[in-house]
Amino acid sequence: MTRLWNDPSAFANEMIDGFVAAHGRYVRRVTGGVVRSTVSPAGQVAVVVGGGSGHYPSFGGLVGQGLAHGATMGNLFASPSTQQIYAVAKASENGGGVFLSYGNYAGDVLNFDAAQTRLRAEGIRCETVTVTDDISSAPADEAHTRRGIAGGLTVFRTAAAAAEAGYSLPDVTRAARLANDRCRSFGVAFTGCTLPGADQPLFRVPEGRMAIGLGIHGEAGLDETDVPTADELAELLVSRLLAERPASADARVVPILNGLGSVKYEEMFIVYRRIAELLEAVGLEIVDPHVGEYCTSFDMAGTSLTLFWLDDELADLWETPVDTPAYRRGSVVRAQQHADAPVAVVARDEVIAPGDEGSRAVAKTVVAAVQAIVETLDANVDELGRMDAIAGDGDHGIGMQRGSHAALAAALAAAGAGAGAGTTLSHAADAWADRAGGSSGALWGVMLRAVAAQLGDQGGPDAAAVATGVAAASREVTDYGKAEVGDKTLVDALVPFSSTLWQEVAAGASLTDAWCAAAAAATRAAAATADLISRVGRARTHGQSSLGTPDPGAHSLALIVTAVGDLLAARTSVAGSAHA
Ligand code: ADP
Ligand code: MG
Repeated sequence: MTRLWNDPSAFANEMIDGFVAAHGRYVRRVTGGVVRSTVSPAGQVAVVVGGGSGHYPSFGGLVGQGLAHGATMGNLFASPSTQQIYAVAKASENGGGVFLSYGNYAGDVLNFDAAQTRLRAEGIRCETVTVTDDISSAPADEAHTRRGIAGGLTVFRTAAAAAEAGYSLPDVTRAARLANDRCRSFGVAFTGCTLPGADQPLFRVPEGRMAIGLGIHGEAGLDETDVPTADELAELLVSRLLAERPASADARVVPILNGLGSVKYEEMFIVYRRIAELLEAVGLEIVDPHVGEYCTSFDMAGTSLTLFWLDDELADLWETPVDTPAYRRGSVVRAQQHADAPVAVVARDEVIAPGDEGSRAVAKTVVAAVQAIVETLDANVDELGRMDAIAGDGDHGIGMQRGSHAALAAALAAAGAGAGAGTTLSHAADAWADRAGGSSGALWGVMLRAVAAQLGDQGGPDAAAVATGVAAASREVTDYGKAEVGDKTLVDALVPFSSTLWQEVAAGASLTDAWCAAAAAATRAAAATADLISRVGRARTHGQSSLGTPDPGAHSLALIVTAVGDLLAARTSVAGSAHA
């Protein structure tokens, strides 16, 4: 249960404000997160970590000397947006290039990759290593697809120590990749967590039972048993991880017993007592054990064990002193504090090119359409959350709600400043992507921008222009997200929507009629995703459990195009009766 907040939708933002107020000695606020408040040597590789909020001390609490240079802090459990990541990277960059590292989740990959592309396009060198330590999330022969949990600390620390030691960007990347290859984690939980303002936990574990193979976002576990004794839990965790001991590992290992939020330190020490015995019994040399909270999941009662297998280089790097708000090792020589104000990175050019009269009239319809989208998402927010909680992380409703509300505000502002339809919709697209975060936020940004490009700012677009925009949206989403029809994503609704729209327009239907027929096709296709097993995105790990429930992203897309169809139909009939 989360008890204290003002407005749940402001939770992440206000949390960051307070965190910075409490830790100004270490961090300062920038667009999208925090960066060190101390000066780093010129030419040092900047290590930027991040992900959703709700995992403290990951990620903001790990910013400081010897560890991250910056952390992007997304909304609760939602990937930061491309714009947020880009802004934090820009503010961290110190002449040595940027090294990005984060847990391997679909939404984070989409957004961090886009930010990397943008940085490189500006001539800033940038490399990425995703953290894939959770052995329960995919088999060993697909280790690169695993998700990242508490083991991120080892990869971040290795990269940061390498940067501190003066490694070049390619060498930092190599060391971080090695650390990730040498790091394995496994987690369990006894209760789920409840996001601020939610009346239900993201998942429940029956009383007296323990979920096995748990993630850090309330993704349901893969298996379940009775709650074991502390020693039995230690045996379970150690045996699973020793079974995946890297072939090249020597005997040195760093164990990290991580608390996920409401398992007490005292309980973890009892578990750790047995873990240490078991590791020593098989001849391992325990180095610098960690027992505490490094990556939490709000108030979830759970714990995970990470084993980090050292070699000479990793062992040396591990000695680097660290001083951050939440994590200290050894003692650092204090660096100078930054005297100048933090760099403000502005989202986009605020100057709005005016549209012509025809396009300004269409911009009003764009605003009304976004308003209709807001209304349908508001009405369905809980249902979308429930659908996403079955195989994903439960945030699809709130993410879409946040994105659409931001889009409406941006569309109103742009149209109010005289923008044409294309500019109005492209501002809405950027605001949606920036505020929603997650996979769906990035994808809706791509879709709306593609349509906006066809609307333009001159004259009224005809039905063919709209159908062309939707076809471009469909193409760009599959290029960007790499999902195909049948993978159980929003692509399953988007493709039939786009193709039906094309066919109807080509056959001479009006935009309204074509759109409504296409929306009906999207609705049927979204419902049919209930029979599919997820193959892409966060839900992939829990593919089987999604059977019987439609894909939340496909469902929300169907709701949205239906609401816009209803709006067009209402406008057409009003226009029709006015002419009559
Ligand atoms: P997240 O998965 O980051 O929590 P959301 O819960 O908001 O994001 O959105 C989940 C939806 O996003 C899924 O139901 C699916 O429709 C869509 N999605 C995820 N990954 C992809 C992808 N690669 N291509 C197309 N759609 C995707
Ligand atoms: Mg989700």
